[in-house]
Amino acid sequence: MSFKDLNLSPDILRGVVSAGYTDPTPIQLRAIPVVLSGRDLIASAQTGTGKTAAFALPILSRLGAHGRAPRVLILEPTRELAAQVETAFRDFARHTDIRTVALFGGVGYGAQRNELKRGVDVISATPGRLMDYIKGGELSLNTIEILVLDEVDRMLDMGFLPVVKDIIARCPKGRQTLFFSATVPPEIAAVASFALKNPDRVECGVNRSVNQSVNHALYPVAWAQKFDLLVALLEKTDFQSVLVFSRTKHGADKIATRLKAAKHTVAVLHANRSQNQRIEALAGFKSGKYEIMVATDIAARGIDVAGVTHVINYDVPENPEDYVHRIGRTGRAMAVGDAFTLVSPENADDIRDIQRFIGAKIPELRLEGFPYQPFVMNPSYPKKGQNQRGGGGNRGGGGQRPAQGRSGGQQGGGGGQRPAGQGQGQPKRQGGGQGGQGGGGGGGRPSGGGGGDWRSRR
Ligand code: AMP
Repeated sequence: MSFKDLNLSPDILRGVVSAGYTDPTPIQLRAIPVVLSGRDLIASAQTGTGKTAAFALPILSRLGAHGRAPRVLILEPTRELAAQVETAFRDFARHTDIRTVALFGGVGYGAQRNELKRGVDVISATPGRLMDYIKGGELSLNTIEILVLDEVDRMLDMGFLPVVKDIIARCPKGRQTLFFSATVPPEIAAVASFALKNPDRVECGVNRSVNQSVNHALYPVAWAQKFDLLVALLEKTDFQSVLVFSRTKHGADKIATRLKAAKHTVAVLHANRSQNQRIEALAGFKSGKYEIMVATDIAARGIDVAGVTHVINYDVPENPEDYVHRIGRTGRAMAVGDAFTLVSPENADDIRDIQRFIGAKIPELRLEGFPYQPFVMNPSYPKKGQNQRGGGGNRGGGGQRPAQGRSGGQQGGGGGQRPAGQGQGQPKRQGGGQGGQGGGGGGGRPSGGGGGDWRSRR
């Protein structure tokens, strides 16, 4: 089936052609008819498989042309996503007079306010800044016809829930409501019942599963050697652009500083940076000015950068669903990608939880020639659960996450000893491998030698 068979409006079909899309993805094939029908929807699909167009195209088709008041509201958990989704709507609507605006914190009010005054049809917003305009009397939601909660599991988790509930309550009862996410945990359905009317459900791919075009692997390493292994992996990897994830903002800064010292071009993205710095980091990473971006989980969801060939989890994510989101930043739009996770004995519980969550074992690899030290435990590492995400309530404004505990001693020693053995066991990119099943990823041989079994020191 092609886009022509999906009953999109002629102007939006032209927008699809201008975007260079030829065939709809599975989530688009299944979600577009439901959205066009006006029914409520809970949709889940693996990351990078075209979710944005799955709601943007039918919504824009239904809008038709510019109207007198805002009719569509899309809520996003981060500023970057609010901006990205607004850009997608604007691009698809380029052959119409429909007007869009992105409302998010960290930047001045002037330009956003001017757009609102001119009149917009579609608002893509983070909850905090949206509420500023509502409370200031500059915006009312009582003309909203379609409400989208993107990354819905984040939007309805404890930190966002009160403000999101408030926003939903301000929208007319007769609206259409759409929930989209890569991961839709069963609890969401319960939390969501107040917002939805008899929703259809569309699930593409196994919920919680890893995008099949991503080869992922664990690289066991002693805590103190993590940075050395990161540098060695980068040295031996044929990459175009790499996203490195840190659990903490402080950790991200530290990794970036050290990678710069190792002569890499590096951008940093986390919630303590100014919005201008965040915009510059993401734009520079997208344009290729920076070959590496070091980020916290603020960049884990939805961010679409073409050509991210590798995701490296310098720190194992604390929440299993973040693993799926992080590694979904590569292997997007049918491209292939590699995702490496550095693991130390301290992470054994986290890895067990992730494997349980995705329902698959992640293959373990070793980098040939790296001078592995024994996998001893870092005694100062907090036990799992001591710094769990949740609660807080300070996350509403501008889509920022709270500082996530665990800063002490994160980046460990790493005395700069370079691994020998250039050119052997090179973690090269592999095409089309099956994520989650043995043997993916690249190059090295399965672990077992060197530092010993990384789990056995627990
Ligand atoms: P998303 O999951 O919405 O972030 O989309 C992931 C990437 O796939 C984006 O770069 C989209 O532009 C691209 N994309 C979405 N739908 C299609 C399609 N039907 N054909 C080609 N690329 C697409």
